[in-house]
Amino acid sequence: MCFKNLFSLLDYHVPTLSFISHLFDNLAMMTRRQRIIKLLEERDYSPGELAVALELRGRGAKKVILEDLKAIQKTLKREGKVLLIKPAECRKCGFIFRPEINIPSRCPKCKSEWIEEPRFKIAPK
Ligand SMILES: [Zn+2]
Repeated sequence: MCFKNLFSLLDYHVPTLSFISHLFDNLAMMTRRQRIIKLLEERDYSPGELAVALELRGRGAKKVILEDLKAIQKTLKREGKVLLIKPAECRKCGFIFRPEINIPSRCPKCKSEWIEEPRFKIAPK
């Protein structure tokens, strides 16, 4: 095989490998979201509890879960289901945050950072 052929072979295979790894990333993401849906159809979970249930570790774990929940909320509408949100709450003064897919870091009323995470559940509409 001459060099020219070898290089054209590499050109062909390198994008294919990255395409395959991209595909696996997408599959992992899809199955993770399906697992979250399954869990939330059984009972309510906080983002921290979901991270534990899915064995997601590290600083970014809850952020990944929140992104998944936002995507899930959009797809649920088509299936006639709804994502219920029990809002985050300040554990010091009892302030109730807005029901959002977000984990607030600080209470606007007493400035405490001792925040109870929001909880999520999937129910039929
Ligand atoms: Zn507070």
